[in-house]
Amino acid sequence: MSGAPRLLVVEDEPSILQPLLRALTRGGFEPTSACTVAEATSLVDRQEFDLVLLDLGLPDGDGRDVVRHLHRTTETPVIMLTARGAEIDRIVGLEIGADDYVVKPFSSDELIARIRAVLRRTAGSAKTRRPLEPLTVGTLTVDPGARVASVDGAALELTRREFDLLYALARRAGTVAGREELFDEVWGTGWFGTGKTLDVHVAGLRRKLPDDAPPITTLRGVGYRLDLGTPG
Ligand code: CA
Repeated sequence: MSGAPRLLVVEDEPSILQPLLRALTRGGFEPTSACTVAEATSLVDRQEFDLVLLDLGLPDGDGRDVVRHLHRTTETPVIMLTARGAEIDRIVGLEIGADDYVVKPFSSDELIARIRAVLRRTAGSAKTRRPLEPLTVGTLTVDPGARVASVDGAALELTRREFDLLYALARRAGTVAGREELFDEVWGTGWFGTGKTLDVHVAGLRRKLPDDAPPITTLRGVGYRLDLGTPG
């Protein structure tokens, strides 16, 4: 990849969009804008972007629809532009799959710093992409190369974060994975979210793991441990 990072900015409020596009161009990015879910999904089908900035409330739908569409075929990182605290709960609680978020009103400097941090993080993970050995913990197999986790041979349907979290736990199976460690590894060191994010994702994983999978034990205030044995 060469040249300016290509950003898609999905925002329907002109008073936010116009100054944002100018600031991004000044910051060395190549922004393209969309004002609706329909426009955004059509653009991501036709063009490649390095990152998507996304408003949650759009005139023809919900920003989450754009993320879902985007992540069906790509791992393009997403930063949500959110208006209210209530939206932050939705981002975290509903596992939208965003890499970061900023709360309006935000300064363009702050946003640009976040964009750079996310791009650094995702470029790093792309660079280290290599065939990795599948891990086996009891009935659980986690294959980071194929990004497939299965229990007794049956594949689990996991979100991107849930998979990363399970892989992080599986690599430390039988030992405690500290909360900070998990944050750094799964969300990256630039992540500034609350502890709730981690707990929500662990809860999601537990719901998806069948009864005969190795259990995830909570060590309150410390972290989580994927146990080596199966329960019972
Ligand atoms: Ca809006």
